[in-house]
Amino acid sequence: MSSHYDLHCHSTASDGNLSPTQLISRAHQQGVTHLALTDHDTTQGLAEAAIAAAEFKLNLIPGIEISTTWHSHSLHIVGLNFNPLDSGLQAGIKNLQNTRVERAQKIAEKLAKKHIPDAYAAVCKAAASGMITRSHFADFLLKQHHVDTQQEAFDRYLGQGKPAYVSTHWASLEEAIGWITQAGGVAVLAHPMRYKLSANWMNRLLSHFKEVGGMAVEIVTGRSSVDEIKQLELYLKRYELHGSVGSDFHSSTNQWVELGRLKSIPERIKPVWELFSA
Ligand code: AMP
Ligand code: MN
Ligand code: MN
Ligand code: MN
Repeated sequence: MSSHYDLHCHSTASDGNLSPTQLISRAHQQGVTHLALTDHDTTQGLAEAAIAAAEFKLNLIPGIEISTTWHSHSLHIVGLNFNPLDSGLQAGIKNLQNTRVERAQKIAEKLAKKHIPDAYAAVCKAAASGMITRSHFADFLLKQHHVDTQQEAFDRYLGQGKPAYVSTHWASLEEAIGWITQAGGVAVLAHPMRYKLSANWMNRLLSHFKEVGGMAVEIVTGRSSVDEIKQLELYLKRYELHGSVGSDFHSSTNQWVELGRLKSIPERIKPVWELFSA
């Protein structure tokens, strides 16, 4: 049987709507053979996912998506194939988990000033033991009829520069890549096209990313166009970086993104899994 990789998705341990078990079951249905669960700043879902993966005979690759700040941009670094028990990694993300709680309280205070009370209790309940993300606030605003879509929640309240935006200092690129690498994993720059960087800034980012130990870039995501993949192919060759593929699946109700529904990596790009140690 041929391999089918999806190395970026979310469960209820962060802002996904499926439990790790439901996610693995759906990935299996979609023909995925190798899946990385990459929740925001947590590895909490991996233990349950591993049990389900064994049942479905699917290869689970330990993953995470770490929030970083670089020159006032929020960049996401996906870590793959590391030891989830590594104490350095766990200590690092513990700080980010605390940052998420403090940020959520501040977002709720800002919403209260806009006459939208009780957001903090609502997002705590919705996130349960998982990470609280802005998606949880967007869902809350939607449920309370303050907006008609998730996108509108970001456009009117939660996005950068909007009334409930809280500027946050996440990990540095060096820190995030260091935690992943020291835990035996591979650091991947997530969805590079989403940052809307000029060519000049993209070059600065990729040379710095490579310098501090980054090894791969997501060249194919769930919503990549053929043209975006071609543009990234040139960057990956220039910086001798491997290519990763990941849907960034969050929700079973989003018809645009599905687990494993991905274009293929260009032939001349080395896939990230060649870097995975056994
Ligand atoms: P956070 O890491 O808490 O800031 O939340 C970021 C998450 O919110 C991302 O991983 C996306 O899932 C979601 N998100 C960010 N921007 C948007 C947007 N414009 N529309 C919808 N969802 C978004
Ligand atoms: Mn997310
Ligand atoms: Mn992301
Ligand atoms: Mn993601």
